[in-house]
Amino acid sequence: MTELSGHLHQQGRPAAEVLSELREKRTHDARWQDGRTFGLVYDGGAEVHAVAEKAAMMYLHENALNPRAFPSLGSIQSEVCQWTAELFHGPDTSAGFLTSGGTESLLCAVKAARERGKAERGITKPQMIVPESAHAAFHKGAHYFGLELVKTPVRTDWTANVEAMADAMTPNTVLMVGSAPQYPQGVIDDIPAIAALASEIGASCHVDACIGGFVLPFVELVGRDVTPWDFQIEGVTSISADIHKLGYSPKGASVILHRTKQLRSYQTFVFDDWLGGFYASPNMQGTRSGLPMAAAWAVIQYLGVDGYIDLTTQMLGAADKMRAAISATEGIRVLGDADYHIIATSSDPEAKHPIDVFALGNALGELGWHFDRQGPPDSLHATVSAGNAAAVDQFIADLGQSAEQVGASRVEDRSTSYATLE
Ligand SMILES: *Cc1c(COP(=O)(O)O)cnc(C)c1O
Repeated sequence: MTELSGHLHQQGRPAAEVLSELREKRTHDARWQDGRTFGLVYDGGAEVHAVAEKAAMMYLHENALNPRAFPSLGSIQSEVCQWTAELFHGPDTSAGFLTSGGTESLLCAVKAARERGKAERGITKPQMIVPESAHAAFHKGAHYFGLELVKTPVRTDWTANVEAMADAMTPNTVLMVGSAPQYPQGVIDDIPAIAALASEIGASCHVDACIGGFVLPFVELVGRDVTPWDFQIEGVTSISADIHKLGYSPKGASVILHRTKQLRSYQTFVFDDWLGGFYASPNMQGTRSGLPMAAAWAVIQYLGVDGYIDLTTQMLGAADKMRAAISATEGIRVLGDADYHIIATSSDPEAKHPIDVFALGNALGELGWHFDRQGPPDSLHATVSAGNAAAVDQFIADLGQSAEQVGASRVEDRSTSYATLE
């Protein structure tokens, strides 16, 4: 028998030892449990965890590749899509699928727009128009699926410059993108205008509500103004929304909805020409874990509209307090006038002593607060969720102390860090 190089043990290790090493490995991970992480993990609280974890255990091994073998997963998917369509004022014709996350939902939207352009308009050199504020995954989609991506600027309020989008349109335009809200500054694009442009030429209009889909409907229900962004707008053909963000379910769950089943059909892959049998697949995956689907279903059921209103109220309270504290701190400011869950903090060029926000981020990092750096312009990104509410007063105290400590100092390293390879 040949021996392997020795990195993998020949003999298995006792379960307790393995699990204890895993626990050890997590020591330096972001401390989201303390409400000190503004992004990456969105914490709905102990009771939500308990429901999610029980559902997850129940579906740890199930495979949604074949919903005929696991009809429960088929109904989980269609119920979650139906609830989400209702939240987004979808017509009765709307139809969708669950995916593993926002990126996969956006990939599906790009692929569907390309197929639709080919089928309905004979377009073989598809082009898509994407504001520079739209998520990087649209660029990934263009890269994967061979579309030309034209990137358009934002206005001074950080929303998409719709005139620039109109100027970029060609007979090959298959997709126009708007975000509700966009991730960097948290503002909602002028979706009615973008959708009108798209429908003029029979192109698709995707609204990326990955980070807003489980926020905006509830923000509206608690009485705050929300500019129209969803299927109420006629030209919107698809919407993505991540349950694993402010839907408060564990990672691996997002919804992609299309206005009609016909539009949804451009997303799917159906194949029957190999030795293994009929293969139909709704998204990018093959084997598909039932875990995140069941956990998302359970969390949504457990919370109900009232539960989401409660979490949204906690989130808004925390976000408003943070925004006020940042605005009141000499040397820094909030970019744009979003008043939901996203806060971008940058240096205030008009201040007498502008603060380097990357230095500030490092100082806050020393105290256990995790912000992603983003830019341009150099800024600290916070997506605030209910899980941050209990820590917000401590944050405000630490912000004041850190700002003082940083003073006029600047850090060399200007790299940003939304996502990394290793
Ligand atoms: C998070 C996010 C995405 C990507 O979602 P993942 O779940 O990280 O793949 C896309 N668009 C927006 C606006 C987002 O905030």
